[in-house]
Amino acid sequence: MREFSYVRAADVAEAIGLAAEGPVAYLAGGTNLFDLMREEVERPRRVVDISRLPLSAIEDLRDGGLRLGALARNAHVAADDRIRRRYPVLARALLNGASPQLRNRATVGGNLLQRTRCRYFYDLGAACGKRSPGTGCDAIGGFNRGHAILGAGESCVAVHPSDMCVALAALDATVNLTGPDGDRSVPVADFHLLPGETPHIDTVLRSGELVTSVDLPPWPPARGAYVKVRDRASYAFALVSVAVLLRVEDGRIATARIALGGVAHKPWRAYAAEELLTGAAPDERTFGEAAAEAVAGARPLRHNAFKTELARRLISRTLVELS
Ligand code: SF4
Repeated sequence: MREFSYVRAADVAEAIGLAAEGPVAYLAGGTNLFDLMREEVERPRRVVDISRLPLSAIEDLRDGGLRLGALARNAHVAADDRIRRRYPVLARALLNGASPQLRNRATVGGNLLQRTRCRYFYDLGAACGKRSPGTGCDAIGGFNRGHAILGAGESCVAVHPSDMCVALAALDATVNLTGPDGDRSVPVADFHLLPGETPHIDTVLRSGELVTSVDLPPWPPARGAYVKVRDRASYAFALVSVAVLLRVEDGRIATARIALGGVAHKPWRAYAAEELLTGAAPDERTFGEAAAEAVAGARPLRHNAFKTELARRLISRTLVELS
């Protein structure tokens, strides 16, 4: 690990002020940052510890939604009675992520900002344009079983590893940010980026900006489920996961939301499939057509063609179970 300076910020203004002086890595739970630093994938010269800032509350919003502080621990969010009653999809997604020990450390903000677990990204001997811009991508011609089937390009085929973010995408959550240029809010669906020509840029976060909270809109009157397929039950990233919300009214589908994990560089909303479902009769044929539409744009790699069929079946089966 390279030498770095360490400062603990006393408040949000100090954290942002320190970032305005030059690049910093914000340290919260540290569950991903320490790995990245130990492997020298990231070599920050300055680390600003934000773990004691007052950003860990889970608060009711006036509109019936909830605000999750950026430093709220994943375990606390999953155990919060309001989350369990009002946003069971999110509770389920959080409990499907990582181990109990990691969930006790990991924060909402850190979960949003965690980096891909592509093995070539962590291997300093491999070509990786996400780690070293412009150097190519060894995953494309290498072992790519866990990589993207949707939204990837020639530059990077990594997937976003979060479970929580898949649920947040289905819930239409909003990420609140503060930084040297003030406050702003970004829908979670727009927060993470596709790789395009700049795979080293994961999110729309600007230099020095800090995630302060995530807002959940009021729970739509729908049934919801989060389902994850992984290589082992105890602790593994998703091969494919799906968050689905479905509401049937008067024999027609009134609300349908589908978000996928493990298939793209960001949590993947299947908007075309949702459109196909809305207003249709809730039967197996419609669900099958929507599931096929959700993966219609899939471009599998050599070792991950199974993900297309897996995602299709997972969506179709979850829709049937919720109807
Ligand atoms: Fe790097 Fe992305 Fe290629 Fe993995 S898939 S080696 S993260 S450029």
